[in-house]
Amino acid sequence: MTRLKCSVKNCMYNEDKLCAKSDIMVGGQDASKPNETRCDSFRERTDSMTNSVGQAREETSVGCHAQNCRFNQDCKCHADEIGIAGSNACCCSETECASFDCQCK
Ligand code: SF4
Repeated sequence: MTRLKCSVKNCMYNEDKLCAKSDIMVGGQDASKPNETRCDSFRERTDSMTNSVGQAREETSVGCHAQNCRFNQDCKCHADEIGIAGSNACCCSETECASFDCQCK
């Protein structure tokens, strides 16, 4: 499990910079820098959403397709802590894993 901070306030799972989803998937198979990754689990919040979508917690199971990241082992993130960024995002591609660290450097 990874401590997850998320600044994507427009996502339906975001509660006070924590994620209410128990597991997320980070995309960006060929990424070599953070802005080529994304949170594939992002879902845009709509005005009609009033109910909570789950219990926000500090730790989240993070699956990851960004195979060039040094924290990626067998499509799982093994970083202690990561940040997902994209404060004005309206779709997955406007989010990114800010903690992506390319082992291609
Ligand atoms: S963008 Fe991803 S990490 Fe952030 S709240 Fe939404 S699902 Fe969770």
